[in-house]
Amino acid sequence: MSKDLLTVKNYSVSSGSISAVRQVDFKVSENEKLGIVGESGAGKSMLGLSLMGLLPFGWESTGSAELAGRELVSMSEKDLVGIRGRDISMVFQDSLSALNPMKKIGKQLEFAFKHAEVSRSESFDEYILTLMHSLKIDDPELSLQKYPHQLSGGQRQRILIGMAVACNPRLIVADEPTTSVDSVIQRDVLDVLISNVSRLGASLVLITHDLAVVSNYCEKIIVMYAGKIVESGPVVSVMGNPKHPYTKALIGSHISLKHIKSGMSKRLPVIPGMMPAIQAIPTGCAFKTRCGSATAACEVQPPNFLVGERTVSCWHIEDQSE
Ligand code: SF4
Repeated sequence: MSKDLLTVKNYSVSSGSISAVRQVDFKVSENEKLGIVGESGAGKSMLGLSLMGLLPFGWESTGSAELAGRELVSMSEKDLVGIRGRDISMVFQDSLSALNPMKKIGKQLEFAFKHAEVSRSESFDEYILTLMHSLKIDDPELSLQKYPHQLSGGQRQRILIGMAVACNPRLIVADEPTTSVDSVIQRDVLDVLISNVSRLGASLVLITHDLAVVSNYCEKIIVMYAGKIVESGPVVSVMGNPKHPYTKALIGSHISLKHIKSGMSKRLPVIPGMMPAIQAIPTGCAFKTRCGSATAACEVQPPNFLVGERTVSCWHIEDQSE
C-alpha cells in the first residue's frame, strides 16, 4: 500500500468571516494523481494556492495540511521558500503572467533549478536539455534563447511544467494547466505533464473543470461545491456511479462522446441557478437552492457519509451501493 504524502484535515481558507474553502479533509498518497473538479468559484484554485503558501494578501489557511509529515499551515515563509520547488511545486494557469516577459526561457529555467540548490551529477546544461526534451519543446537550444512571447502558448505551458518539475518535487499542484492553450494541443500538454510526473515518481493534484481530463489521467477525484467537498473517491466509482446530486448534475451536463455521436441532437442538461458567492453561502447544504431532491433536512449541513471507498455529503443518498 502506498504511503500518504499529503494529509489535509479540517482545512479552511478564509479572509475574515469569508471562506473560499470550508473544512475539507483529503489525502494524496505517494505516486497518486488526484483530480479536483467543480465550477468556477468552488474554491479549487484557492485550495491549490494555499497549499503552496501563495494566498493573496488578507487570506489565511487554518486546520492542518501535512506534507510528508511537515505541517504547512504553521510553516514560516522562510521554510516555505525552502520546500517550494523541492517538495511541492505548482503549474500555473496562465503562462504569460507566470513567466517573466523580460527574461529568456533559459534564464528562467536556470533560476527554477538553482532556487532549490539540488546537487546533480550531470552539468546544469545537460540537465536542462534533457528536461527540454522531456517537455517535447521544439528546437530546445534555440528555445532557451527566446523570450516567453516568442513561444507559442503550448510551448510556454510546457516551460511552466518544466519549471515545476525542475527540482524533482514530491507533489505537483497543477491549476487548470491547459486553460490558456488551444483545445487541439491540450492533450499534448497534459501528456507532457503526466509523463514528467511519472518520470519523477511524484504525486499530482490536478485542478480542472474538465471531468474528461480527470477521468483520463487521475485515480482519485474530489468534487467541490461552494468551498466544500461534496463527493470524493476512486475516479472509476465516482464517475461511473455518482451519488451526490451535484456530481450527477455535473457529469450530466458534460459533453461526452455519446452525445457527439448522437449528432448533438439533444441539448445538454444544465444545472439551474448559480453557485452562491462566497460572501453569501446559505446555511445547511449549499447546493439546496439548485437541488431537485432538497427537503427540510437539507437546512442542516450534511456530514461526509462513507459509502464504500468514497465520501458523500448529502442527506438523501438513494443508492448505497458502490
Ligand atoms: S443534502 Fe439535500 S440539498 Fe444537499 S445535495 Fe443532498 S438532497 Fe440536495
